[in-house]
Amino acid sequence: MSAVLIDGKARAAALRTEVAGGVAQFVATHARAPGLTVVLVGDDAASAVYVGAKGKATREVGMISTEHRLPATTPEAELLELVAQLNADTAVDGILVQLPLPAHIDADKVIAAIDPAKDVDGFHPINAGKLAIGQPALVPCTPSGCLLMIREALGNISGAEALVIGRSSIVGKPMAALLTAASATVTIAHSRTRDLAAHVARADIVVAAVGVPHLVQGAWIKPGACVIDVGMNRITLPSGKTKLTGDVDFDGAVARAGWITPVPGGVGPMTIACLLANTLKAATARAAA
Ligand code: NAP
Repeated sequence: MSAVLIDGKARAAALRTEVAGGVAQFVATHARAPGLTVVLVGDDAASAVYVGAKGKATREVGMISTEHRLPATTPEAELLELVAQLNADTAVDGILVQLPLPAHIDADKVIAAIDPAKDVDGFHPINAGKLAIGQPALVPCTPSGCLLMIREALGNISGAEALVIGRSSIVGKPMAALLTAASATVTIAHSRTRDLAAHVARADIVVAAVGVPHLVQGAWIKPGACVIDVGMNRITLPSGKTKLTGDVDFDGAVARAGWITPVPGGVGPMTIACLLANTLKAATARAAA
């Protein structure tokens, strides 16, 4: 068997087109475009690339993109003051503070300062809590994108055995909450899990969000399973060149899985598309409030 490749780029393009349609409707109704503001503190090269990509994608769907690029030495109080200003700005529907923040800034404090109604990353404790208890919330973008891809592959996942590897607040925990809400039977694995291979072998759905290249071996995969690889690991090849790779041994897994996401080109593109969808959702909810 050779797995069906889940094309994250194509799925994300379709979602962006859907969002652009919603934005056009929003503009026609409210005579303004939804606005997303991204705050970047410091000069982390990868973060700068992500922020640039988010701004471009935001403009392409017809929303207003604003960026605040602050020096790495910015005091925490100054960042909190900026967040307060953005909370009060009626033209701003979504606020995203790019992580990681410099070590002298308490990221939890900054996230908690964002108005939950504008928290398009879905990291605010109010949104995390609502997701956990099954109330409507702004949901973190990466697990939202994963769920869309799982549903597209499998349709109804009620009763399916789902394994989420990783328990971070930005991927693993919200992913497990979304799968639970979709009535899957969910197991969460982490660094203390005994016999990861046995858990993988039972799972109809595997979401790997770890950050360890090729942790999940192809031979562990249950035949026909849906494998979503969130991992983004840059490895150095014997030639000295670097390459982006996932948490799953793709070449081994593709022979056993029913569906699988590639890295790159799987989960990554969906994350930004879901950010745009969250911004439209936040704008629509604020306009109706
Ligand atoms: P994280 O906060 O470092 O969490 C990693 C999780 O993996 C932790 O829960 C950890 O367990 C678990 N883990 C570590 N080693 C393990 C092992 N040997 N077996 C089982 N579990 C193990 O990472 P994250 O922020 O969730 O990100 C995970 C990966 O996804 C990274 O590669 C990241 O770059 C990628 N990512 C991609 C996107 C995207 O858009 N494509 C978005 C976000 C993240 P403990 O809790 O016990 O330490």
